[in-house]
Amino acid sequence: MKKVMIVTGGGRGIGAATARLAAQRGYAVGVNYLNNEAAALAVVEDIRKAGGAAVPLRANVASEDEVVAMFQEADRTLGRISALVNNAGILHKQMRVEDMDAERLRRVLDTNVVGAFLCAREAVRRMSTRHGGSGGAIVNVSSVAARLGSAGEYVDYAASKGALDTMTIGLANEVAADGIRVNGVRPGFIYTDMHASGGEPGRVDRVKHFVPLKRGGTAEEVAAAILWLLSDEAGYTTGGFIDIAGGR
Ligand code: NAP
Repeated sequence: MKKVMIVTGGGRGIGAATARLAAQRGYAVGVNYLNNEAAALAVVEDIRKAGGAAVPLRANVASEDEVVAMFQEADRTLGRISALVNNAGILHKQMRVEDMDAERLRRVLDTNVVGAFLCAREAVRRMSTRHGGSGGAIVNVSSVAARLGSAGEYVDYAASKGALDTMTIGLANEVAADGIRVNGVRPGFIYTDMHASGGEPGRVDRVKHFVPLKRGGTAEEVAAAILWLLSDEAGYTTGGFIDIAGGR
């Protein structure tokens, strides 16, 4: 059967590495992005050049209408999805909680939590044997911040990932009998553009000495764990988490 995956935030960083590896493993891939069309198109082009199938899918995951439209476009262009990677996520400038305003908090929670819920909902509606689907698997890209809390930097972001972890457990139990597995990965310090959004592009190199393995991780190392969780090899794993954080 044709394997179809949507990767949210698939144009850059961990999402792009996941989209590329998924294509190598035989998935047709929907590469979701928000603003950086050029990056998403480059991933799609690389996959097609290598003989794979991919389409760019622009949508803000925090917008219900845009998420619904994105899944409908994926239905039309790729076929019914069997895998979802809820990877899109944001953080804002490092600051203490006492300086955070409501607009920032809502933006982070809307993208990282509401967005993941909306995409999971659309995926479940298509995958669930309860709705005539053939099953599937979802991986939520959380963070070790969920258990460490990110004090002084972005407690809001850490809390959003805590919510995502709870969703992973609850949804996994809710849809287990409907042929769907739901798991999470929790990366640590990974070399991507995300740290620039927090105001410190060189953050991984500053903090890597605190990591037991004494280095930052790569997007490809995270992608490998995601692809394993989505694969049949992980067939008895649901509601579980893999930390990819060098021992942190
Ligand atoms: P990144 O390089 O900043 O890429 C983020 C991706 O998310 C981009 O493709 C971006 O789209 C997309 N995106 C952001 N907001 C979106 C929205 N509202 N709708 C759709 N797409 C949206 O980040 P990354 O480091 O690869 O992070 C990926 C995931 O890993 C995130 O959930 C992050 O929390 C998690 N994570 C990262 C680290 C780390 O150290 N890097 C550690 C732990 C967890 P555009 O390209 O269009 O801007």
